[in-house]
Amino acid sequence: MSNTSIKISLIVPCYNEQAALPVFCRETMEVLKHMDCDFELIFINDGSTDDTLPLLRKFAKDNPHVTYLSFSRNFGKEAAMYAGFANAGGDYVAVMDADMQDPPSLLPQMLEILQGGEYDSVATCRATRKGEPKIRSWFARKFYRIINKISDADIVDGARDFRLMKREMADVIVSMSEYNRFSKGIFGWIGFRTYWLHYDNVERVAGQTKWNFWKLFKYAVSGIINFSQVPLSIASWFGILMTLCSFFFLLVIIVRKLAFGDPVAGWASTICVIIFIGGIQLFCLGVMGQYIAKTYMETKRRPHYIISESNREDIRKVK
Ligand code: UDP
Ligand code: MG
Repeated sequence: MSNTSIKISLIVPCYNEQAALPVFCRETMEVLKHMDCDFELIFINDGSTDDTLPLLRKFAKDNPHVTYLSFSRNFGKEAAMYAGFANAGGDYVAVMDADMQDPPSLLPQMLEILQGGEYDSVATCRATRKGEPKIRSWFARKFYRIINKISDADIVDGARDFRLMKREMADVIVSMSEYNRFSKGIFGWIGFRTYWLHYDNVERVAGQTKWNFWKLFKYAVSGIINFSQVPLSIASWFGILMTLCSFFFLLVIIVRKLAFGDPVAGWASTICVIIFIGGIQLFCLGVMGQYIAKTYMETKRRPHYIISESNREDIRKVK
């Protein structure tokens, strides 16, 4: 079957990627040219402070397949991907990093799997966490175990955001307009038949990762809050546990009073108990606060991103 009648949209979020972009563009174009299908590259400049934007302007001028959207500031990768989905016009849509960690050479195989008709999306997954700091891998594995236990979304350990999907699936993703976005959760939550492609971890070709440990940790906590209500029930469970404990201690006190009289003692233990319970209460309040904060942000209905510049007229500047 000839592919010329189909179109692929590639969404590429870019934040300070001036070093990686030329390599990415060259290699990806090379792969796409040989795929015998129409394609568009949608670059999202996520408020870069280096020469990413001038580079994108130049790509767009030289190549009619290139679209760029430039945000008014850094809104984060999630917002950048959302902007890409909202403006992608292809029959198939893919998300790719600009740093070559998502090998474009996998695209033909991914398209072939989708055209087989049995699957709606092809997702990629790192076969190993080679080259990653040990402590980061440990936290990542724990995170995946916890979130899969306490949420409906099926989130695969080592999954990357790199995936190719059919138009229908991309439309569903656009329709999920929640402000607090966690794409790995959204992809898993919406379902559809997904084929998992495993490949060895590839190192970034140039530039530096935008994620430090603390940023990743916050992203993980936010993922859990976005896709599970279980932390909210922690307060109730602590409450039940505490009540049972207090009944037990009451019994001990009564028996001691009847058996040995009432020696006044235990100031230290009283303070300990007060601090312990105070700590748990504050923790539970904090958990609740996290959910309320998310609800607060959702109710404001602020745009996910603001586009200040693009080479296309028909894009939605705010969504
Ligand atoms: N990115 C972005 N906005 C950000 C951070 C990252 O658009 O605020 C882009 C970045 O340019 C890259 C992709 O998201 O194309 C993945 O980022 P990175 O390679 O730093 O993450 P890692 O691969 O280390 O997880
Ligand atoms: Mg990367």
